[in-house]
Amino acid sequence: MTKRAYNFNAGPAALPLEVLERAQAEIVDFRGTGMSIMEMSHRGKVYEEVHNEAQSRLLSLMGNPKGYKVLFLQGGASTQFSMIPMNFLTEGKTGSYVITGSWGAKSIKEAKLFGETHVAASTENDKFMSVPDLKSIEVPENAAYLHLTSNETIEGNQFQQYPSTGNVPLIVDMSSDILSRNIDITPFGMIYAGAQKNLGPSGVTVIIAREELIAESPKNIPTMLRYDTHYSNNSLYNTPPSYSVYLVNEMLKWIEEQGGTAELEKVNRKKAALIYDTIDRSEGFFQGPVHPDSRSIMNVTFKIGSEELEKQFIKEAEQEGFVGLKGHRSVGGFRASIYNAVPYENCKVLAEFMTHFKQKHA
Ligand code: PMP
Repeated sequence: MTKRAYNFNAGPAALPLEVLERAQAEIVDFRGTGMSIMEMSHRGKVYEEVHNEAQSRLLSLMGNPKGYKVLFLQGGASTQFSMIPMNFLTEGKTGSYVITGSWGAKSIKEAKLFGETHVAASTENDKFMSVPDLKSIEVPENAAYLHLTSNETIEGNQFQQYPSTGNVPLIVDMSSDILSRNIDITPFGMIYAGAQKNLGPSGVTVIIAREELIAESPKNIPTMLRYDTHYSNNSLYNTPPSYSVYLVNEMLKWIEEQGGTAELEKVNRKKAALIYDTIDRSEGFFQGPVHPDSRSIMNVTFKIGSEELEKQFIKEAEQEGFVGLKGHRSVGGFRASIYNAVPYENCKVLAEFMTHFKQKHA
């Protein structure tokens, strides 16, 4: 059997073994065409079928919300930080942002290049160790949209519920928690995610947006950066990242096979609870800095109070085959990224390792 690492990488991140094996089986001859999907025209029937299949699977996993369109773009979620204000932040409007961490801060930074911005709420004073009370979020009347980051990958916080924004479109960066839990997307104007955490490999950014938002863009922005270009061409205006889209489709099939988002959510909650419980029961040896009601079930962040022990933890973890546990360089400590594809079993092994480490070093 193939030896697989205990992969807790933050992104690109673990993919299910089944998905990789299917891709392996199809890489030389895709569906009897005598070539890999990487080698064929994106204008042909075979590729287009996969492209359309991935779009309809995604919508179906989201409960087939009416009036939404899926786009497959490039440039990562980071390019969305500027495409959003370019397309929506028109004269006289303000781009309203909830800032709960590093990615939210990057998104408003881009918006400032294009127009007026407004901070609807921020937890910076709390070092982003929480998400704000929904009641404290203030959306101005002239808001073009309200933008927030559902899961801050670096700090490890996550919204448990979303604010209602009335007629103002709610735009959510779901890069690190898309399809990890069962949500109704009809209150959202647009959600977007780089695929490389919960949806597949890097190289494709997935957008799910209400059609009326993306059907028409201002005329003075470059063709490739306009949502309407991709909307009216079914994301085939230019060459799409075809292999990434194919793998996203395979990943979506796998999610269906797991029973969809409701079932994944149950497993994801159990996975996160294993690690958080280990932290909470460690009598202060491990510390989870994020407020319990804002804790992410995707990126579990924790610390040990001593630099020396933190180094030792990483050293022993590496010896045991754990990968990716080092916290982001901006915050230090540790982070276990436990996206959809990370098996429950691996989280159990990590929790046991942590307990064992504490017994040895406390
Ligand atoms: N938003 C969030 C929440 C992220 O976690 C990331 C990537 N780690 C990004 C945006 C940026 O994504 P990309 O690298 O695809 O541009």
